[in-house]
Amino acid sequence: MRLTKDETISLDTPVCDGEGCFAVDTVECTLPEWVDYIFKGLFVQEVWPDRSEAERSKFIGVRSGYYLCDSCFEQLGDDEDV
Ligand SMILES: [Zn+2]
Repeated sequence: MRLTKDETISLDTPVCDGEGCFAVDTVECTLPEWVDYIFKGLFVQEVWPDRSEAERSKFIGVRSGYYLCDSCFEQLGDDEDV
């Protein structure tokens, strides 16, 4: 596979970590954005300032290997102590 500079890549998140949930989501970005995030160590909000919180959490999931899908994340909202 050859990627040109502005090619859009699609990334699969890890399987959702929610109990009994096996959701896998896909998120798209351009290759330069992904390089900025993974190899240059920029924060998600620096690379994708216009993306929603949910979208950013997908990128974080791909990078960290830990992911919660949108609905599990909402359920978590109340008792999250991070
Ligand atoms: Zn889930």
